[in-house]
Amino acid sequence: MIFMKRLTLLIDADDTVLDFKNSERDAIIELCEQFCIDGGEAVADKFKQINRRMWDMFELGLITREEIFYSRFEELFAFYGIEDKNILEVGDAYRENMARSRRIIKGARAFLRRASLDHDLYCVTNGITRTQKMRMKSSGLGKYFKKLYISQEMNLAKPSKEFFQCVLADIGVVDLQDVYIIGDSLTSDVQGGINSGIKTILYNAENKQIKDIRPDYEVKNYRQLEKLIFELSK
Ligand SMILES: [Mg+2]
Repeated sequence: MIFMKRLTLLIDADDTVLDFKNSERDAIIELCEQFCIDGGEAVADKFKQINRRMWDMFELGLITREEIFYSRFEELFAFYGIEDKNILEVGDAYRENMARSRRIIKGARAFLRRASLDHDLYCVTNGITRTQKMRMKSSGLGKYFKKLYISQEMNLAKPSKEFFQCVLADIGVVDLQDVYIIGDSLTSDVQGGINSGIKTILYNAENKQIKDIRPDYEVKNYRQLEKLIFELSK
């Protein structure tokens, strides 16, 4: 029998296993219907731009999560000249729509099911506690993870070293040798791994250009990831 190492895999949620982009699009189009706002698809595109920029600022520590909840819709409505909506109400409805999403990245479910048999899987996400917990449940992916580490409830966020130290301490990892972070973001997942001495695997389905922040490994799809994990566990 071949001896296989048991790996500790820290796995990002959004756009790594959960399909954030399409969930966000669905949630905004539904929101437009709920609040009688014209232009569903275009509004979704605009929101995507605003939301991405705000989460980038969050990663840099420039704004708080609570500020994002308000500011992203404030900016969206200012752009379209919409003045008659209650931003807090709209924000709540958006997060509820997101929480109900079941969209998954292609290949993720099969990978998680198989990997969870041989390795210890933990989810590490910068999202919102209630939304992420509900999405993990609705999508059926939650059961493959031993635990979810969500930045909102930890009061720490990727890519900070403290976030990963807190996760590793809770898991009880002493040796980083067999620990890997897998994620689609160079600035939060790969940078976080670099900050905390964890080996990094970039899930790069989008062919992001790699410049300053360099992962140890790069995969383009789940087939490649499964193969890599198999090699690493030899
Ligand atoms: Mg991600």
